[in-house]
Amino acid sequence: MSAHPPQQITILGATGSIGVSTLDVIARHPERYSVFALTAHRQVDKLAEQCLRHAPRFAVMVDHAAALQLQTILRAAGCATEVLAGPQALIDVASAPDVDAVMAAIVGAAGLEPSLAAAQAGKKVLLANKEALVLSGQLFMDAVEASGACLLPIDSEHNAVFQSLPASYRRDPGAAGVRRVLLTASGGPFRNTPIEVLESVTPDQACSHPNWVMGRKISVDSATMMNKGLEVIEAHWLFGVPAEQIEVVVHPQSVIHSMVDYVDGSVIAQLGNPDMRTPIAYALAWPQRIDSGVGALDLIAISKLSFERPDFDRFPCLSLAYQALRAGGVAPAALNAANEEAVAAFLEQRLGFRRIADIIAATLERIGPMAVDSLEAILAADARAREIARDEIRKRSLTQ
Ligand code: NAD
Ligand code: MG
Repeated sequence: MSAHPPQQITILGATGSIGVSTLDVIARHPERYSVFALTAHRQVDKLAEQCLRHAPRFAVMVDHAAALQLQTILRAAGCATEVLAGPQALIDVASAPDVDAVMAAIVGAAGLEPSLAAAQAGKKVLLANKEALVLSGQLFMDAVEASGACLLPIDSEHNAVFQSLPASYRRDPGAAGVRRVLLTASGGPFRNTPIEVLESVTPDQACSHPNWVMGRKISVDSATMMNKGLEVIEAHWLFGVPAEQIEVVVHPQSVIHSMVDYVDGSVIAQLGNPDMRTPIAYALAWPQRIDSGVGALDLIAISKLSFERPDFDRFPCLSLAYQALRAGGVAPAALNAANEEAVAAFLEQRLGFRRIADIIAATLERIGPMAVDSLEAILAADARAREIARDEIRKRSLTQ
């Protein structure tokens, strides 16, 4: 038994793929972790089930009608969880004084404000919500620095890089001798699909990832490789490495989760089965390690690991992300916002798969110079980019 009281955890986006995996790990260690709050957009039944199982102090539904429904279900079942509603409640449960750690696992820009609130409140922030960091970059890292928050990456690649860097890296990155960060990418479901065929692929085809089971938005991002593009930007902010030193290596088996190449010729990698419970357990317990429920890696069964150069013609989103990172300013926020709008339109079958990159390119071209030095400015840039992207989507709509 641990001598300390259990750590109080808030899970933002509890009903999603990362949220469910986090609850799975937490439930294995009741002496270490206790659930402070669970949040969801509007999935009442799933959040109700999670509340009955994990008995959090608070449950937040962004949608007010959904919150009322949740409250009715929980009262009838005699559950003491207090139900809150609306976006401010997300911020409140992410920054409440009793909270030790926050799993930031909302998908998209919607997660920015509560994730940032956790960082500003000096929490241990377990960051899955990569879009929040792509949007707010410097502002987010400054908030972490100012409050003394502990920022730990959940994205498997960044978690692997974090594990492959020396413990002294944050104090003295220059002394570490990092030559390159090598982000591995599975290549997604369309790695070998002829480019002409990509014109007519469906949302379900795009969402059937060969190695990982994930939410629909990140699954489409994996199919366009925008996921890797967002991860290049994420790596830049997390590890302070310029675009030129971040390389993408296609590795279809998804066994090596990423690597760090050092000036002495050493390459340090982290390997494991493709199961998000490994990086989640690592970040929850860091610097200790705990059981995650993931089985041992069977290298003999895997037998071969292979590597390829990414195909930038097939995956223009990857080039667009590098371009946005190099351009800086409003570009990463615009890239992310346009991508979210285009992916939503693709999932609703209003836009063809290959047009996603066109929408992002057009938005990056059209957005004028805008300051991005405050939360208000970032939200304004996000809103402006969405307006442009929606206009571009209308021009190319499949449903006209
Ligand atoms: P998901 O779609 O399965 O779950 C998203 C969660 O966010 C749900 O709980 C949903 O209720 C909540 N949500 C959605 N819209 C919201 C809104 N407007 N306001 C408040 N809450 C909202 O997504 P996921 O696959 O779990 O991914 C979550 C985040 O983690 C994403 O940023 C993704 O890029 C990142 N990530 C996921 C994986 C993975 O394996 N799934 C791996 C690495 C990184
Ligand atoms: Mg990843």
